[in-house]
Amino acid sequence: MSHLSDTFGAMTTSIDSTPETCTHEIRSRGRTGVLACGNCGLLEFFSAGRTLDPDEGMAALFGDYDLVGTLPAVGAPGRKVLAYRPNRGGRSSLDLLPVAAWMRAGARLWIASDGALLLLATSDDLLVANLTQGA
Ligand SMILES: [Zn+2]
Repeated sequence: MSHLSDTFGAMTTSIDSTPETCTHEIRSRGRTGVLACGNCGLLEFFSAGRTLDPDEGMAALFGDYDLVGTLPAVGAPGRKVLAYRPNRGGRSSLDLLPVAAWMRAGARLWIASDGALLLLATSDDLLVANLTQGA
């Protein structure tokens, strides 16, 4: 996991950086679309022409990922960081996200991709307990 920590530590929190020009583009996998902007941290999910709430969108795209562990929360917007690995066929949904940028998936939840893993950051211990339940 050490190389993952290095990659992760180099990541920046997008809200702290100076805004540049955003290209907001919806990318789709199956019926689920996602607008994920590593520049401003915007994250929105769509399905069949309507907006999904983040929970629905996350479940649709990443619901079958396997929890592989936690990472040091260096440079992360939350105190806890959970790492998820795509199972077979899951990789293409990870490719919908920009690499090495945090995006807001909810009031207390941020997500990022390091290119191989899905990373979730939060400071909500109850949410962490729910996410790690049964893993
Ligand atoms: Zn943007």
